Parts: sequence; C-alpha cells; structure tokens
Amino acid sequence: MKKHLLILSAFILGSSPLLAQKQDVEKKFSSEKAISQFTYLASDELKGRDPIRSEMKLAYTFIAQELEKAGAKPVPGGNGYYQNIPFNLSSPPTKGSVQMGSFSFSQGQNLLVLDGRSFSGNYEVVEVGFGSAEEFAGKDLKGKIAITNVGAPNKFSPNQLFSEGRAKAVRAKEAGAVALIERFNVPSVPWQLVSGFLNRPQMGMDQGETSNLPYLWVEDVKNQLTGTNLGNATVAVEGKVNTKIDGRNVLAWVEGTDPQLKNEFILLSAHYDHVGVGTPDATGDSIYNGARDNAVGTVAVLNAAQYFAKNPPKRSILFALWTAEEKGLLGSAYFANNPLIPLNQIVYNLNIDNAGYNDTSIITVIGLGRTSADYLINEAVAEFGLTAKADPSPEQGLYDRSDNVNFARKGIPAPSFTLGFTAFDDEINKYYHKAADEVESFDMNYAQLYWKSYILATQKIANWSQKPQWTAGDKYEEVSKKLYGGK
Ligand SMILES: [Zn+2]
Repeated sequence: MKKHLLILSAFILGSSPLLAQKQDVEKKFSSEKAISQFTYLASDELKGRDPIRSEMKLAYTFIAQELEKAGAKPVPGGNGYYQNIPFNLSSPPTKGSVQMGSFSFSQGQNLLVLDGRSFSGNYEVVEVGFGSAEEFAGKDLKGKIAITNVGAPNKFSPNQLFSEGRAKAVRAKEAGAVALIERFNVPSVPWQLVSGFLNRPQMGMDQGETSNLPYLWVEDVKNQLTGTNLGNATVAVEGKVNTKIDGRNVLAWVEGTDPQLKNEFILLSAHYDHVGVGTPDATGDSIYNGARDNAVGTVAVLNAAQYFAKNPPKRSILFALWTAEEKGLLGSAYFANNPLIPLNQIVYNLNIDNAGYNDTSIITVIGLGRTSADYLINEAVAEFGLTAKADPSPEQGLYDRSDNVNFARKGIPAPSFTLGFTAFDDEINKYYHKAADEVESFDMNYAQLYWKSYILATQKIANWSQKPQWTAGDKYEEVSKKLYGGK
C-alpha cells in the first residue's frame, strides 16, 4: 500500500515539468565533486588566491581543467580557457617629496605616489582645473607638471576619483607632461583613510614600460594650492618599483540548442581571487582562505558548466571566473572593455560574490526587483525550500561594488546571487575578509542548496521565451536601450 502510494505520488510529481527540472538538477549534481572543488580552492595550499602571488597559477589552472573536464568549450579569441590580462603592481617609492612654493609634501604623510617610475627635478607647474578633456585642450605641457583637483564636478566617490585620475593621466601624457599631480581636497573622504589604504602596492593595468605617467596626490583639504601662480615644483621620487603581473580570467562556453536564442548569452560569473596572506588572527592563522568570498561562487559556476555542458538550454551560456576583484574589480572590467563575446549578445549576467551568510533559509539576490527575470529566480530557489530576498542594506551600495556593476554599466541586467544574509552583522564580520573564512565552518547542506538553486535559476532564465529587461525607470535602463538597440 505504502509502496503504491509512493509510486503514484512519484508519478504525479514527476509529471510536473517544474519538478522534473529540479529533479534533473538534483540527479546530475555531484555533491562530492563540488565539495572537493570547494575544499581545494579554499585550501591553505592556494595561499588565499592573491593575483600577486605565484600560487594564483594553481587556482586558475585548476579552474580551467575543471571547465575542460566538464565539457565546456574555450571561448574563441582567448588563450585556451584564459583571457590574459597585463597587470602592473605599483609599489610606493622608498622616498618621495614635492616642494611647491612654501608647501612641502612627503610620501606617506601628505603625499602619495600612485603610479609611474622614479623621477626627480625642477618643473614648471600648470593649472588644469579638474583635468577634463576640454581643460587639457590646447595646453602646452611639454616637460611640465599638470596639476588638477581630484575627481570631477559631482564625481567624488572613491571609484570615480580613480577612474577620473586614470583618464587625466592619459590626457596629461598626451599633452607631453612629465607628471600629473592631483590636489586631494574632498571633505567627505578623510585623507588618513586614503593614505592608509594607498601607501602600499597597488595593482592596475600595465600601460607599457614608459607610458605609466608619474601620478601623485597631495593633501590639500584647505584648498591652499588652488590658483594659477604655483610656479615650479621640485620633485624627488626614489626607489619606485613596478612589477608586471600576468593576470588571468578563466572563460568557457556552452552553445544553446535553439537556432535563434543560441545567439544570446547568459553570463554566469564569480570572482575566484581573494586577498591572500595577511595579518595573523588570534589563532596565528595568516592565510585568508576566502571560502565564502568567493570559492563558493567559483564552485557554483564550475558546477553550472558541468550541468549545462551535458544539458544545454536554449540560450548559450558563457562561464567567467574573474581575477583581481579584490584589487578593484579589475578582471571583470578588463573583459567588459575587451569582450570576447560582443556585449550586445550577452542578455543577462547572474553574478556571484559573497561576504558570508547568517540565514540559511534564504538566498539574497543583490538587485532583486530590478529585472523582469526575477520571478524565475524566486521560483528556482523556492523549489529547494529557500526564499529569495532582496539586498537587506541597499545603503551599502553592494550592487555597485562588485563585478556585476561592470556589466550593469554597459546595460546588461546583472544581479548577484549571494548567500543568505539579513544584515551586515557580527556573524558576517566574523568571516568577511578574515583568516577564519574557511570551508570547515561552512554549512555544507546549505552550500549544496545554494549551488543547485543557482543552476536551476540559470536554466529557467536561459530557456525563458522572453529576454530579461531592466525594470522601467532603473538607472541602467537608458544605457541598456543603447546597448541592445532599443529592442
Ligand atoms: Zn568577493
């Protein structure tokens, strides 16, 4: 009797197309394999997956091999399963000083040498306002130093300060300048915080041997340096070391089955780097394993590749494991600016990045409520007994602080599928960017639900008859229309 009931209910359940999908994911998902990948990626052997350390090679080699074994194909235009990225590691000079009029600046105190090589001498200083293209136009800067304010009008967030600064360094170099000095005069960002963070090696793009222009910040919170009568500056920057780093994004793809929809790609992404080796904690552990941030996400993408290579959906899927997220979203930015698949063919990005979790009954989706495909994520996680919840602390701006933003800015709907958290509380801070973020303290039942519901959500979206859209009025809706031609 019982047995018959079981068979009957299995028949009824099995005939539901929704449950059939879930059962198929369940059946084909290898927990053992996923857990062993997770354990290896977060092991001490990989030394915290820091792109500036040699152990990073172990991480990207492993990821590429797993994608190959899964049966996902290398992306044309890549270096096998890799996209090579030329990074430059710029270390602070051993000594740095600038004298302008009665003002003196010294490295690490009120001066930060951010890029370029060692140089010294006495140079004329030319005022260039905020350093916009218009302000640089027509200025003779040959053999001179350009001085500007940091940022741009209404652009003073840390990210904007850096991106504006990089653009100005290019303009200054084109105008023949020997260096760019920016006056740091943003009241909302404390100089102490900035100098503490920046007076150490910084990773950025390698602009070539001679093209990284010396780029300096001087503290000028009282706006004393503004004016056209700055005269000359005497500069001495010594012992500046630049190291080339061979960065690698790891990429693969699976072709869709629908003759039309296969030209559209769903991008599944997670950064695989972490912060490396650092200050030891109370137990003496100095290896920052980054199990939550973001080995767990890397494993989700690897297992999605494993599943979809054997069970391709209608749309094609691009798998991407980004490097150097922790250095400033560098790997994903490089791909967004040098895409191996045209960006207007990437219709959706389901990214993963994680700090930790404090609620194993939910999946937190950063950006839930901003795209038309959200209900499919809700459905998928519900089938695994979980509930999808939106970002509990939008004021933290998490959406715009991880790799997904590099695609959102181009117009691609790009939420992040993260471990469940209801607040950035002690339970999160216990592990977030700490040596304690290890596999041993991870709830493996939850990990499996997380991985499987990610695959199911992807399957639903990749088979959906409609193309995901931004919610009307979203700040990225306009750029999205431009990218996809208003369709
Ligand atoms: Zn992360």
